Amino acid sequence: MFDHLPSHVAGLTCVLCGASFTDPMTWACPHCGPSSRMDVRYRPAPADVLARFASRPFDQFRYRELLPLPLGAELPPIQVGGSPVSSAARLAEWFGVAGAFVKDDGRNPSASTKDRPSAVAVVLAKAAGAERVVCASTGNAASSLACLAASMGIPATIFVPKRAPAPKLAQLRIFGARVLRVDADYDTTWELSQRIATRRPWFNRNCAVNPYLVEGKKTISLELADQLRERIPDWVAVSVGDGCTYAGVVKGLEEAHAVGLIPRVPRVLGVQAEGAQPLVRALDGDGVLHVEPAETVADSIAVGHPRNFVKALWAARRNGGRFVPVNDAAILEGMRQLAQLAGVFAEPAAAATVAGVREAVARGIIPANATVAVLVTGNGLKDTATALTAVDGPEDVPADEAAIEARLG
Ligand SMILES: [Zn+2]
Repeated sequence: MFDHLPSHVAGLTCVLCGASFTDPMTWACPHCGPSSRMDVRYRPAPADVLARFASRPFDQFRYRELLPLPLGAELPPIQVGGSPVSSAARLAEWFGVAGAFVKDDGRNPSASTKDRPSAVAVVLAKAAGAERVVCASTGNAASSLACLAASMGIPATIFVPKRAPAPKLAQLRIFGARVLRVDADYDTTWELSQRIATRRPWFNRNCAVNPYLVEGKKTISLELADQLRERIPDWVAVSVGDGCTYAGVVKGLEEAHAVGLIPRVPRVLGVQAEGAQPLVRALDGDGVLHVEPAETVADSIAVGHPRNFVKALWAARRNGGRFVPVNDAAILEGMRQLAQLAGVFAEPAAAATVAGVREAVARGIIPANATVAVLVTGNGLKDTATALTAVDGPEDVPADEAAIEARLG
């Protein structure tokens, strides 16, 4: 992908043993093996970095001194990041805390936070002269890659398993991706796509091990810090599937503090579904990953085998972070409350975050005098079928004025 690291990147560090490397393609530590993960380290930010940030548009590339992109690389023409933060007093009251903010990252081009790492992927693909980008997924990563690739004029091939849901296929096809529907389950589809892609001059977005893509995720908390500054809350909450986003959120807050955007680093609450909580069990238990089957309405976090487990635990321990589980009923309740108390429609995985804050307050993890920011990582229109199970249907009435008046009472 790179011949050499960009000049503002110092190197890659193994999150298990701390060994450092300057070969940009060292993605697994030779000492720690394939389960290790690499973290991108930057050279100290220039003294005027805040002024440089402020001189640029408010989107994720504002923070380019903290992103692993070649200087002068072509950026997508559509806005990625720069999502709004709003204060949510009625939601705070429902949580039982002193104050709450909602950062609505569903307002990205393909309506999820995945646009952030996908934007990094297409910038790197373009800079490397890749002929095509590829990934295997039926979820937000796929629709996001299809969207960003279209914006940069890079052909995309997406492998989906046979059971790929129609709304996701629609998003993929309308962005012009070539969609190969494999007559198999997700695991087989993923393996096939890996083998086929590596034989070709294609840029592969599959990699949970790719240390550069996850750097895109941290821009959600760099932005939060930039937007709130001294009002930065005590806690930031986000849902957790494979652990990439959690690790990125922690790192972004640490870097925001290091460059002087915020006076302190908030603690980060990770929320998992009760039916898929390997990280909760590991952090609160023996620190070991126990892979389990995943079962939850929140498809984006239905991950029994989190591929960035190592990095997520590493970040949580450094941060003093906590993980809590929430059940499906609580997730649907969270979806209703977020919509009706704050005016934000979230997909189930993002609504889990709301449920998780309430749970953390009930458990005494988040105290009543604390302030909290909720990161909404996907728009509710991604999964209207689940949303409709969270509410009653409409009231059917005849086309008759008197009958409607009678019904209204
Ligand atoms: Zn190592």
